[in-house]
Parts: sequence; C-alpha cells; structure tokens
Amino acid sequence: MKKYLKTPRVLRRATLLAMLPVFFLAGCGQKTECEKSIDTAMGTVISQTVYVTGNSATTTNSKINEKITDILLQKLNDLEQKELSWRLESAEVARINAAAGEGQTSVSPVMAEWLGRCRQISEESAGAFDVSIGRLSRLWDIDTWAAAGDSGDYELPRQEEIAEALATTGWQKIQLEQQADGDSVSIPAEMQLDLGAMGKGVALDEILKILEAHPEVSGAVISVGGSILTYGSKPEGGAWQIAVTDPLDPSESVGVLTLDGGHCVSTSGDYERYVEVDGVRYHHILNPRTGSPAHSDVAGVTIVTKDGFLSDALSTACFVLGQEEGQQLLEKYDAEGLFIDHEGTITMTEGMRQYFHLSNSQK
Ligand code: AMP
Ligand code: MG
Repeated sequence: MKKYLKTPRVLRRATLLAMLPVFFLAGCGQKTECEKSIDTAMGTVISQTVYVTGNSATTTNSKINEKITDILLQKLNDLEQKELSWRLESAEVARINAAAGEGQTSVSPVMAEWLGRCRQISEESAGAFDVSIGRLSRLWDIDTWAAAGDSGDYELPRQEEIAEALATTGWQKIQLEQQADGDSVSIPAEMQLDLGAMGKGVALDEILKILEAHPEVSGAVISVGGSILTYGSKPEGGAWQIAVTDPLDPSESVGVLTLDGGHCVSTSGDYERYVEVDGVRYHHILNPRTGSPAHSDVAGVTIVTKDGFLSDALSTACFVLGQEEGQQLLEKYDAEGLFIDHEGTITMTEGMRQYFHLSNSQK
C-alpha cells in the first residue's frame, strides 16, 4: 500500500489545480533556439515551446523549429477533423454516432485501440469514466455556454430530460469487434460517444511520436488545454516546471511540478468550464450514475503519467470518484495524482511527492 501525504492546515485556503506551464526562455543559446506559439485547436488553447538544436549548415534553426510547431498544430487539427470530433461529419466519432443502432461501423486501428482502452478505464473506475455520455454532455452543453462566457440565459435541463439522456448511456453496450478485414464498433440507437475526456491526452501521445521522429528537437513543453507534455531537456539543463492551478482561485497556483522530459500531466477541475445558475456552479464533468455534474470531495485533480491517454482519462475518472477511490484507481495504473478538495486541502500519492513543491506563498 502506498502512503499518502496530507498537507498541513496552513494549506486549507490554498488549493488548486490545473496546470499552467512555466516556460523558460533563458538559455536559448547560440546552438539552440526556442520558439513559442499559442494557437487554438481541438476547441482549446494550444501552447508550444520547442527548443531546436541546429545541425544543418544550410537551414537555420528557426526554420526547422517553425516547421515542427506547424507540423504539431496540423496533427492536432487532423485528430479533431479525422478522428475525435462529434461535431464534424468528417470525424470517426461523428460517423460512429451517426450509425448508432445500425450495426458495426469500421474504424481505424487507432480508434479501436482508444475505445478498447476507454472500456478498460470504465471497468476499472466502476463506470465513473464513460465515453457513452454524449447525449448527457450535449443536454447540459456546458462547454458551449462556458466558452460563450455568459450563462445569463442558460436553462438547467429538466429531471425528465436528464433521465432520458442517462438511459442512452452505458459503456458496456459499446461493441468492439476485431476481424481479419479490420476493426469495427457499434453503439445502440440513441447512444452518442463523447471522447472529450481523453482527446487532449491522446493528442499528447501523437505529439510525442512526432517529436521523437525529429532529432533536432532537444526539448519541448506542449500544452493542449489542461494536458501538458514535457519532452527532452531545457538548454540550460534542469527539469521542467509545471505550475498547478489553485481550483479555489484559478488565477493562482498552489505549487509546481518538477518533471523530466517524457511526462504527461492532466488536470480536471470544477473551475475549468462551468455555468452559474442562482449562485450554484454547474461544471462540465458529469457523474455517469446521476447524469449531472459530479460532486465528489475533489475540486481539482492532477495526474502525472508517461502516457497521455492515461493521464487525461484518469484525471476525469478521479474527479468523479473522489480522492479515496481515485487513489485506488491510480494504483492500478501506477499513476501519480494530486487531489485538492473544496477547502483547499491537498492530498497526493506517495510518488507525487517527488514532483510537487508548494508555492512559497503556500508554505
Ligand atoms: P476533462 O476536462 O478531461 O476532465 O474532460 C471533461 C470532458 O469529458 C467533458 O467536457 C465531456 O465532454 C466529457 N465528460 C464529462 N464527464 C465525463 C465522464 N464521467 N466520463 C467521460 N467523459 C466525460
Ligand atoms: Mg480528462
């Protein structure tokens, strides 16, 4: 059994979580150049810092670097358009949803792999993570309203509507088949898939493959919404620093994670996307048992693993499960987690203690 650290009372006002990357610009020396870019893709903010060490006499470092940030951005757009989106007809998820109730739909090997992994996390989390909640997430539509930034006219779904949408969910009903001529999936009529809880994570996995195929990239920190990949090393040496947002005051951080390259960090929190109705906050992470926004003892949770899919999926699952059951789930995947409750108390797995350091203001 792992032991967990309970933070002292001093921290109770502090809490927090979502990670803001802390970038180091110093150290872009003669041989290594760095480039920063901020774009939007996959419905979220993409922030890239890439260090390129030049080894070509004919091409400047910045040209090589530019190409890589463009390649990475293009990859994210492709993922959205070809695979992950339920909104774009061109995407596999939208195709699967459109064929609900009509038998098997052929899918790419990568989609089959993702859905298989989703099933496993659903099973291990007793259904706290469930990508079949598409009808519920559309009913609540928090993402759209939160993006618009004005919840004035937002109307809460009625209980009958929630019950109706809830009846269409159930990860066990997603049928995956592997045959000689390829993979296929079928979902029941009415069910709709929503891969929003792991999409940013698989984006990190795809980005990692591209970076590994470009030896001129010596280091990078890439943030896709709330999920961050550290890669390689900084020109000046030392580990990457990733700030952990305070969920009670998202303009502040509660501390910093110090990580080598090759880590994925994902955060799920009730402050990320939400609407407020009569002073009550309704956020975007749903409890698949109730059909409504999850209310556990967690206001924010941050996961560190070496696998983007896992960090993203586990952060959502742990948010729904709460601290105790969440930590049990993390043990199954050998993942590290940091939980912040609604009073700001921080609890973390033993392994997280090697990464996390409190902000000076929190000490
Ligand atoms: P994340 O921010 O990674 O925790 O993912 C939240 C997004 O995943 C939401 O915006 C929904 O699209 C979707 N989602 C919400 N609740 C769940 C859940 N319990 N299981 C799987 N996906 C969910
Ligand atoms: Mg997630």
